[in-house]
Amino acid sequence: MDSDDDFENNVKTLYLKNKLSAKDTANLVRSAHKRGAEDLDAFKTIGKKQPKNAQRDLMRKFTRGSKLPKPYFANVPIKDRKTGNKAMVILPFLLVSELLVHIMLGFGTGFRDILEDPPGSGFANMKQQWRADNNIPADDLVASLGMHGDGVSLGKQGSINVISWNITSMEGGERNMFTAIEKRDLCDCGCFGRCTLDSIMEIFRWDLMALYTGLWHTERHDGSAWLDTDKDRKTKKGKMGIRGQLQQCRGDWPWFKWLFGFKGWQSNDQICWRCRANKSSIPYWHASTKAQWMKRRLSQRDFANLIAENGFDMSPLFSIPGFDFYNICIDSLHAMDLGFTQDICGNIFWECLGIYAVGRNKKMQIGDFVMKLKEHYKRMKTPNCINTVTLDMLKKDGKAPKLRARGAETRYVVPFALEIAVAVHAEIQSEHTHNVLMCVSALMDFYMTFGVRPFPKDDAKIACLNAAHYYVLLAEEASSEDKRAWVIKPKLHIFMEMGMFQVDELGDPMTYWAYRDETFVGLVSEIGETRGGPSDAATAPLRIIERLRALSR
Ligand SMILES: [Zn+2]
Ligand SMILES: [Zn+2]
Repeated sequence: MDSDDDFENNVKTLYLKNKLSAKDTANLVRSAHKRGAEDLDAFKTIGKKQPKNAQRDLMRKFTRGSKLPKPYFANVPIKDRKTGNKAMVILPFLLVSELLVHIMLGFGTGFRDILEDPPGSGFANMKQQWRADNNIPADDLVASLGMHGDGVSLGKQGSINVISWNITSMEGGERNMFTAIEKRDLCDCGCFGRCTLDSIMEIFRWDLMALYTGLWHTERHDGSAWLDTDKDRKTKKGKMGIRGQLQQCRGDWPWFKWLFGFKGWQSNDQICWRCRANKSSIPYWHASTKAQWMKRRLSQRDFANLIAENGFDMSPLFSIPGFDFYNICIDSLHAMDLGFTQDICGNIFWECLGIYAVGRNKKMQIGDFVMKLKEHYKRMKTPNCINTVTLDMLKKDGKAPKLRARGAETRYVVPFALEIAVAVHAEIQSEHTHNVLMCVSALMDFYMTFGVRPFPKDDAKIACLNAAHYYVLLAEEASSEDKRAWVIKPKLHIFMEMGMFQVDELGDPMTYWAYRDETFVGLVSEIGETRGGPSDAATAPLRIIERLRALSR
């Protein structure tokens, strides 16, 4: 059955490296099955009934077999729900080291290929440096890892912070759970939640140290002996057969603020962890190569001082060999698809009502808008469409316009925004419509650099600066007319940090895409909900981890 195994591995590799769509992979496996590859039985139904689920089904089949490793339990300080005081709770963790080995064993021989970073990317260089600095033998497998923080809604109870990780070389690869903690349970001793988060990160650091050495853990994270719940892990000794390097830490602004202790945008002082930008003397929104903030960059030492000035300790993450502040990644999903791009599209869509989208009233105009959007989708064969658009999705009362849609939906609607800007400018020909057109054209140009080899860094920088420049002109115009539109937000600065600096350090934004596995995030939200009964800070995390383990079978 060797040839079938090889075939299966090849298909996996093709699929996982994004050379085939999930649907194509499923079709390929199904036709191979018809030709007599009996061992592929497990694959034959994948994606047949619901092509939409093909990707998920495939991922499941690829990691099928044994259940995920058992959770690791550890004490973490939280806020007691009754007293509000600092208390301890036992939280469950799915250890990165154990899950990574589990995934590796599931893939078999194709795994080495999957671990290759895109050649020439900032991350490939980073891994090479890491190997050299730490004398890692060339034959040793090293996985490039990214960690994420996401706030996920949890029914009526509010939200839960999910800490997950992925193998960054695996495009579109699944998110894997580490742990989760509800927002309401974060320690509130004046630490802004840092007591809770730092002890979670301490366990993450301990686990990543095992991946640094490539050796199984020999004791618990606090140096104590194994507990009864560690039965499976105490028998594991010696080499794991893989190492891991933490290359990226991704998330949105609140997550970074929380994780690293940035004061944020409330103060007039420093507001960025990469430069000296502020809200007054060094304006963070300046979109010019002469902008002060572009010259006043922070060093690693400045960064450490900034955290100390804010009265916080350095996150345990910085004790992981090879992790420094350059590894804190601004990604296009959070900076653009769920940020700057939503502001641009929201404003364009709102302004086009009555001009491009016609009708006697707003309700009829939005109807016409949706009809034109659908025509556009059909013409462009857009893969990721917004189902419908309501007035509420473009503008909430008293607020500036902003498109409320998912990240991928927003990215794929940019060509429509451009189409509208072209049509509106052709009709009105004002300075305003000109600036709108320039802004969205530049935004589109920036997106178009993604995935181009070699990465056109200079084109990306020009597009980034232009998009920001015209946006700021529109913001100034709106504010001079006292209109709440084209509002300048911190994400504009984050976008420029990514488009002007990170593209130099890390290359193509597609290689540090915060692919937000909406299945994963949605699943967590769905299964994390607690239905009545007594609950504490560990209830939802434990439910999520146990269900994920069961589903992975
Ligand atoms: Zn605290
Ligand atoms: Zn900055």
